This record gives sequence, structure tokens and C-alpha cells, in this order.
Amino acid sequence: MSKIDFKAEREKLVKRLIEEGFLSDEKVIEAMKKVPREEFVPENLKSSAYADSPLPIGYGQTISAPHMVAMMCECLELKVGDKVLEVGAGSGYHAAVIAEIVAPENVENPGHVYTIEIVKELADFARKNLEKTSYIKRVTVIHGDGTLGIPEHAPYDKILLTAAAPKIPPPLIEQLGPGGILVAPVGEPHFYQVLQKLRKNRDGKTEFSDLCSVAFVPLRGKYGWKI
Ligand code: SAH
Repeated sequence: MSKIDFKAEREKLVKRLIEEGFLSDEKVIEAMKKVPREEFVPENLKSSAYADSPLPIGYGQTISAPHMVAMMCECLELKVGDKVLEVGAGSGYHAAVIAEIVAPENVENPGHVYTIEIVKELADFARKNLEKTSYIKRVTVIHGDGTLGIPEHAPYDKILLTAAAPKIPPPLIEQLGPGGILVAPVGEPHFYQVLQKLRKNRDGKTEFSDLCSVAFVPLRGKYGWKI
């Protein structure tokens, strides 16, 4: 089999996502052009790394489709210096894309990404993938129930859930700082959900908006689905 030119494939995918309207923020575009998705998927799926679809990563979980990563990053209005919490580390890919935006190399005040994963083996998988791609200094992987957030590092500028919640877990709303944005798929498991965006105003009041229909794996844990 001839060697795949992953960089060329990545460029092609990003171009397609721009044409399809999923990508327009230059910072997100640059980050998605940089992060090697093939390093975050199981060895036997590397050749499919640049298909715009979710891929299995074991334990019944998936790495999200690139267009979903793009859309969520744009919704979060990420900027250099943001402190971000991701619930559902999975492969670590989405966390790496966010790190590339909030903590690019050689900036004075880089941000940081905390990502939490409930499946121990996947937390290890994410950590390993982030180590080999050199993102590990900008991303901390924690094994635990992300519905409780990570109070030690709160408040966060941005929070995202990459698994579908019955409703946005209250501890996460609490741990979002003033002016912060939270994005989460909300709705029944194994069906379409609504991608919700919550903005916490400077006075602490919250505003919700529904963005679009999405399909995510179910969120587990204290404020997740009991399945
Ligand atoms: N962001 C990931 C995609 C993850 S899929 C990536 O880039 O690859 C969603 C993940 O959420 C799964 O790995 C699942 O195990 C995890 N998850 C589900 N409920 C959770 C919870 N309560 N806390 C932390 N992780 C959870």
C-alpha cells in the first residue's frame, strides 16, 4: 500500500469544511490544519482519519467527526489564554485542537485545557496520544466523572461536553466564569440531541440558545444517563 500523505489529506478536509460552512474562524482553521488526527485514532483506522465521520476508539465510544469538532470550537469563541474544561476526553483529539487555539507555542500568557474522561482506559489512551503529539504540556487529562466538573481549577472561560446530557449538569454551570461559554449536546441517548450554547453574563445570569441537531454518545456519571 502506498504511503498516505496525511498533511495533504488534512488540508483537503479543512478546505471542504470551509466550503460546507463549518469553519470560518481563522484560529480554528489553522488549528485543524495542524493537529494530526491520524495520531488519535486506533492504528487500523489511520487510513480513515480524514473522512468527515466519527470513528470507534473502543469501549463503545467514538472520536467525534471533524465537522463537529470545528463547529463546537467556533461556538466556544476560543481565544488565546482561555482556560477550558472538556468533559469526555475520548481520544484527546478535540482537546489538542483547543490547545492549539488557546495555548499556541511561544505566546506570553497561554491558556490551558483540562479534559476529564470517565473510562480509565480512554483517559490513558488520550494521555498517550497527547504525549506523542507533544500537546501534553498544554492539556491535563484527568480520570473521573466530568459531570461534577473539576472544582480545583474553576472558574473556566469555556466548557464543552462531548457526550449527550439529560440536562446541563449544574456543577458545570457553577464552574463557568462570568462571560464564559458552555456548549453541550442535550437530549435522549441513542437519538438526535440539540447542541445548546449557554452564555454566562458578567452579572452571572445565563442565556441559552439551541444551535442544531447532533448525535453524540450518552453522558454517564452523576448527572448523566443511568444506562
Ligand atoms: N472529545 C473526544 C470524543 C469523546 S466521545 C475526542 O476528541 O475523541 C465522549 C466521551 O465521553 C467518551 O469517551 C465517554 O467515555 C466520555 N464520557 C461519558 N460520560 C462521561 C462523564 N460523566 N465524565 C467524563 N467522561 C465521560
